Amino acid sequence: MSQFNYQDGLLHAEGVSLAEIANQYGTPCYVYSRKAIENSWLEFDRALRNQKHLVCYAVKANSNIAVLNVLAKLGAGFDIVSIGEMERVLRAGGRPDKIVFSGVGKRKDEMKAALRAGIKCFNVESVNELIRLNEVAEEMHIHAPVSLRVNPDVDANTHPYIATGLKDNKFGIAFEHAVAAYELASALAHVTIKGIDCHIGSQITTLEPFNDALLKVLELVEELKQLEITFEHIDLGGGLGINYEGEQPPARSDYIQTIIKTLNDVNVELVIEPGRSIVGNAGVLLTQVEYLNKSEHHNFAIVDAAMNDLIRPALYDGWHDIKRVEETSNAEEANYDVVGPVCETGDFLGKDRALRLDHGDLLAVFSAGAYGFTMASNYNSRPRVTEIMVDGESIHEIRKRETIDELMNGESLLPK
Ligand SMILES: *Cc1c(COP(=O)(O)O)cnc(C)c1O
Repeated sequence: MSQFNYQDGLLHAEGVSLAEIANQYGTPCYVYSRKAIENSWLEFDRALRNQKHLVCYAVKANSNIAVLNVLAKLGAGFDIVSIGEMERVLRAGGRPDKIVFSGVGKRKDEMKAALRAGIKCFNVESVNELIRLNEVAEEMHIHAPVSLRVNPDVDANTHPYIATGLKDNKFGIAFEHAVAAYELASALAHVTIKGIDCHIGSQITTLEPFNDALLKVLELVEELKQLEITFEHIDLGGGLGINYEGEQPPARSDYIQTIIKTLNDVNVELVIEPGRSIVGNAGVLLTQVEYLNKSEHHNFAIVDAAMNDLIRPALYDGWHDIKRVEETSNAEEANYDVVGPVCETGDFLGKDRALRLDHGDLLAVFSAGAYGFTMASNYNSRPRVTEIMVDGESIHEIRKRETIDELMNGESLLPK
């Protein structure tokens, strides 16, 4: 159930009016619902109650430390792709032995830091990374826990920029090279094989691709068993889609049921790495109309949020529902392109939206909790916006709006 609903004609996050938040903290700002985040993570966790498992939240979807802290309190694991993300998890109270480390470009210093912290597993994406990790672990006189990310070559039917499980993608070890890579891993003295993993893409709205990927991984597991290579865990990655525009993604519990049925082994630990599915629909971007520019050809609503705050429309053609905070309006309805102030034609939040608008109206851009703030930039020297977490009736400012001074922090003039 959505935690963003109209009450007395005003859009609310849980028990708090978004108009009240805009009034106190200004716009643009991101607003998240604690309950929505918790409920999504718990749906995965509960569906897995009869299976050894760990639900590792993919930090890159939304890495605010308050979000991480809320999940850490539930016992979540975390999927990280950098040492910056690891530090966030640790400072948010996440346990290192519940961290898995993904990503194709891990540096030596990142490997060292993660080994020192004692993470659960490295999701190794290439043979060269495996060799480097073995060297780094040897220098430290320890063993690195590893899982190899294999590329099952399945089509996730998603946007090409977020499909990662096709053989042409840069991610993971090609399926046909996986056995040789595991043989190498078992021969290397300073890595310990813990698991096998894959991640086929993001915003996947049917179950078949997940099932196909798991079947291929299970084929490998069988083949490797003949070579006496066995696993403590199987990690299926993330990628479950959400509803942006009327998509009907499978329920979290159905997704889990399908996986468990195919897996058919309660003794192996199942790891999943959902990001978008946990936070995507748990956040909105709140923005205000600055100008309405109308002509015979086009109506533009110029708002104070822009592509630097939410880049999904520009980057992936992402579609976000846009609604008024005040439910009703006397303004005439028109079709608007909702655009920001940035000097790029790609700077839009939504196109051709039927809205009743006046100057100063507040709008909520929905489903902005994932890949929203984490992808924000300072383009056009725009300070990054405030983040708010609503918890029942209370409002928490979990990140202050950047100041103009912070914008230039660390920059300097030449001496002459
Ligand atoms: C991005 C990513 C995820 C999370 O994907 P979602 O679509 O947000 O669930 C999980 N695992 C890996 C390796 C990723 O790169």
